[in-house]
Formats: sequence, C-alpha cells, structure tokens
Amino acid sequence: MRLAILGGGQLAWMLALAAEPLGVSVAVLEPSPDAAAGRIADHVIAAYDDPAGLDEVSAGADVVTYEFENVPTAAVTRLAERGIPVLPFPGSLTVTQDRMREKELMAALGIRVAPHAAIDSPADAAAALAAVGVPGILKTRRLGYDGKGQVRVATADALPAAIAELGGTDLIYEGLVSFTRELSVVVARGTDGSTAVYPPVENEHRDGILSLTLAPAPNLSPALIEQAQSAALKVAESLDHIGVLCVELFDTPAGIVANEIAPRVHNSGHWSIEGAVTSQFENHVRAVLGLPLGDPSVRGVAAMVNIVGTEPELAALLALPGVSVHTYGKAPRRGRKLGHATIVADSAEALAAPLAQVRALADAAWDA
Ligand code: AMP
Repeated sequence: MRLAILGGGQLAWMLALAAEPLGVSVAVLEPSPDAAAGRIADHVIAAYDDPAGLDEVSAGADVVTYEFENVPTAAVTRLAERGIPVLPFPGSLTVTQDRMREKELMAALGIRVAPHAAIDSPADAAAALAAVGVPGILKTRRLGYDGKGQVRVATADALPAAIAELGGTDLIYEGLVSFTRELSVVVARGTDGSTAVYPPVENEHRDGILSLTLAPAPNLSPALIEQAQSAALKVAESLDHIGVLCVELFDTPAGIVANEIAPRVHNSGHWSIEGAVTSQFENHVRAVLGLPLGDPSVRGVAAMVNIVGTEPELAALLALPGVSVHTYGKAPRRGRKLGHATIVADSAEALAAPLAQVRALADAAWDA
C-alpha cells in the first residue's frame, strides 16, 4: 500500500515512521527541501497547490492525507479530479479551518464552548461586547496557530484597537474562559466508523506553544473522562471524520468547555508513540487505509516534553530512565519546535523524577 501526505514536517515524518513497519510506502508533498519527512519518504518538492506536484505525489497512492489543516482548496479539487481519495474528507477541513464554524458545530452537538461573536468589521465591536463582555480574546478566524493571531482584551475600550491590529475582518471575539487546566482528547476513526479514543491528557503551554503533556491527565474522574471523550467522539462522528482528530478542551469547575478541533495527528498525542499500545500515528495510517484500528490504552503513565529553541544535550536526556527522544532535524531558532522527549513509567511516582529532569533540560534549552 502507498500513502501520500500533503506536508512533510515532523507530523508527516512520524506518520511515515509508523507506516514503514506496516509495509506502507509514503510520498510527501512539501516545498521545503530539508523537511523532516524527506529523510525517510519519497519527497516531491513543490507547493501544496502545484498541479504537477500533486499529480506526482499521488501517483500510485491508495489515499492522500495531510499533516496540517490549511490545505489549499485547489489541492483537494485537483486530487478529486484525479479520482484519488483524500482522507480525512475535505468536509473536516472546511469546518476546522474556521474557528467560527468549529464553535457552531460543537455548540450544535451540545458541547459547551466559550461565548463568542463574529467580527467582520469594526462596526461589529459593540454587538460583540454586548454578547460576550470582557475580558475576552480576539482571534483570527483562520490560519492561527500556537497562539498567533490572538489578542487579549481586558476592557471594552481596548477592543477597537485589537480589531485594527488583527486586520479588521474575519475575526472571532470569545469570552475568556476561567479554567483550571487545559486538556485534549485524540480519537481515531476508521472507514467503517469504528473508533479508538485515547485518554484525556493534560497540556501546559509556554509562550503559546505546547510545552508539556501528561498522559493520562492526573485526577480524572470517570465523569470527566466521559465528558471529554464523548466530545471528541461526537465531533469525529458528525464530521464523518476518517483518521485522527484532536479536540482541545478547558477544564472548569462547571465541566469542560471545548476550544478547538485539529483534524489531524496532534502534538498532544506524541506521547502515544511509546506511551500507548498503538500510537496516534499508526492509528491514523490504519484509519485512512481502511485497516482495523489499534488499542489506544496507555502503558503505565507517560509525559511528553517539547524541545523548543535549541536542543538539550542528547546524552543528558538519554541517561534518564524511561526517556525516548525524537529529533526533527530542524535548525535551532527561538520558539521553534525541534523535537520532543517522552518519558514512560509504571506510576506517577516513578515518572516524577525523570520528568523533572527532562523539563529542567528542555526549559534551559528553550531560553538558550
Ligand atoms: P488557541 O489558538 O485557540 O488554541 O488558543 C491558544 C491558547 O490561548 C489556548 O491554549 C489557551 O491557553 C488560550 N485561550 C484561547 N482561547 C481562550 C479562551 N476563550 N479563554 C481562555 N483562554 C483561551
């Protein structure tokens, strides 16, 4: 079998690593010549909407998938014209490319979301403030990532300037949710509608970038697990999503509030490579190729620490018990994800010491 992937970064690289033992060959379409996935997959160097590149990457492929949600419509159309299945279906992209549609979908499914209002011109500010109030957070509806394209709004007077700063149109204004922690749930859904849902995990961010994931999230009640997992399952089912999807959630004293949907493998699921029986990457490959899904259960407890900015000394990380390192081969740059380390242990107690040491090394590298 052969899989084509739009995008050739670290997510495509980890998908290709998971595909390899299954005997599935991989081709990626990626304009950057030194992208991570190019190390192990056939690499077509062209823009994501380049017709010749799309034809070449999909030649002989059973299915085309993607590692990011901002897939150009032109690419999907070209592949459809060639009769190559694109999974997840393009409908998953249409909804998740737009924060407003995402929120409308989740609200319609009975999943709580923050109060929100669309802002298409500066004149919408007053109505948005009346509906949502302050404090709030103004976001671009499209193309935001890692906290980019967002402005916090503390007082009503500050909203017009924030709107101007973000371009005046195509924005969403949300009420600021007072949460105790951030959670996420990754789910895989197969072509036959079967699902494999991972346990809710707890995420910490630094400078708007994921820094730590604890899997499973500590102190989960059965009710919270049910609420969080059923939100992810409902979203996957309503989109007829095939492949992996992640829902990001806020944990609040009144229950969970959903924030956003990623229609793809997600950074908060990287722990599953060593920490789960079947990783999110393997389950995505299985799902889009119509193969049975694997077991999403955790082996003990796991933590994932992102390596951002510069890389800690490899030997220092590998000297710690239960630690695995994944290096994406990217040049160091402030705020850039260069890799991640996963720690797996039998218990939270056994995890604590190596996790603290990995975090200290990663924190120092982040600031270096
Ligand atoms: P996002 O790009 O929507 O994932 O937002 C990035 C981060 O900003 C989230 O992980 C939260 O920490 C924070 N954030 C986003 N939206 C809200 C909100 N409505 N209330 C409180 N915090 C938020």
